[in-house]
Amino acid sequence: MSDTPAAPRPTSVPPLIVTQDNEFWFAGAREGRLLIQRCGDCGTLRHPPGPVCPHCRSFEWDTVESARRGTLHSWTVVHKPQDPGFRYPLVVGLVDLAEGTRLVADFDDLGEGGADRLRIDMPVEVFFGEHPHGETLPRLRLAAEEAGA
Ligand SMILES: [Zn+2]
Repeated sequence: MSDTPAAPRPTSVPPLIVTQDNEFWFAGAREGRLLIQRCGDCGTLRHPPGPVCPHCRSFEWDTVESARRGTLHSWTVVHKPQDPGFRYPLVVGLVDLAEGTRLVADFDDLGEGGADRLRIDMPVEVFFGEHPHGETLPRLRLAAEEAGA
């Protein structure tokens, strides 16, 4: 057994990487707005943000604001590694937004039954909450009609 102190372990959540291509998205999140990038030439919506339309290669774009409703495409339950500030098990969903793009976010407390309540294609809502590292980011909860079910 070694007496050498262990090196500090890196956090499991890297700092968010904000670039000129995605800063609009984080700015929208800070205002409680879920923005989706739209091609200025062909109108295709895309997420995550990027400089070029994958459909027509245009560099022109603007944004539309999501209605923050969608259906659950899939999910996973994270047990480890654990990052301070998150509650575990952490339920992370992949949502098909009504606008047609997808979003990955963590679920708020799912209540009794936890992730066992989830079903493919069930309606979910996006809201904004502060994450442990101080960012305001989208989070998920069951749509109102499901939450009481
Ligand atoms: Zn395009």
